[in-house]
Amino acid sequence: MPVAPGTTLAALQRMPLLDPVDQRILVCHALGISRTALITQSDRALTEDEAARISALLQRRLDGEPVAYLVGKREFYGLDFVVGPGVLIPRPETELLVELALERLPPRGRVLDMGTGSCAIAVAIAHARPDAHVTALDVSHDALAIARRNAELNSVTVRCLHSDWFTAIAGETFDLIVSNPPYIAAGDRHLSEGDLRFEPAGALTDHADGLSALRAIVAGAPSHLAPQGWLLMEHGYDQSAAVQALLAARSYTAVQSWHDLAGIARVTGGRRESQG
Ligand code: GLN
Repeated sequence: MPVAPGTTLAALQRMPLLDPVDQRILVCHALGISRTALITQSDRALTEDEAARISALLQRRLDGEPVAYLVGKREFYGLDFVVGPGVLIPRPETELLVELALERLPPRGRVLDMGTGSCAIAVAIAHARPDAHVTALDVSHDALAIARRNAELNSVTVRCLHSDWFTAIAGETFDLIVSNPPYIAAGDRHLSEGDLRFEPAGALTDHADGLSALRAIVAGAPSHLAPQGWLLMEHGYDQSAAVQALLAARSYTAVQSWHDLAGIARVTGGRRESQG
């Protein structure tokens, strides 16, 4: 899809090559200019080099690559995060998990984010609550490199650990455990659609029934939760009853689910009992 050299920014904006918002973001990124500059410099004509850069970027989007990976960042909870193909792109529905966590976090509380990916959840909590002690873990070294960068970029302290679920935190307890684990079942058609085709499979699917990561977290969390501590997990649109059953079977109390802005039961949680 060649954009011709000499095309003005105004003319380019009128060309319906992509979704208009995606197109605007990618053009700004290719030229290294702001959204405002796109308007104030509407008469600017593209050089050969700029036209080639824009054409290449728009073509990658047409071939399906997520905008967040093409520009290398995504906003979450009002903060900027670096993202790349090694981590899941933060989703707006995950902000619900952050809100629920912040409501339940005691002063100077200890928080654990399991399968942190870009560190979006952990960084958002640490940013909102500088008194909290936040630990984030992931089994992927690629993800941890991005996670550490995001903590630094947002000027927060998050202890980022390489860990296969609970292995690196033996003997430690937390007031709150949160997770947005891989919960899409193997073979689910969503895995071969849209942005998900480009995201790390290990962050999306458990390669099984969709519940195995949630099961591992529910089983392991009680020995890492302070009495009355909360476990909060994001899950798929049709998994709230199954996750509630997992929690109830392990004698968590106050088991419940919360709806995201689309009205979907998206987060389920429970509390460790005072004893045992
Ligand atoms: N919410 C993501 C999606 O369905 C999946 C995230 C996950 O598996 N944790 O696009």
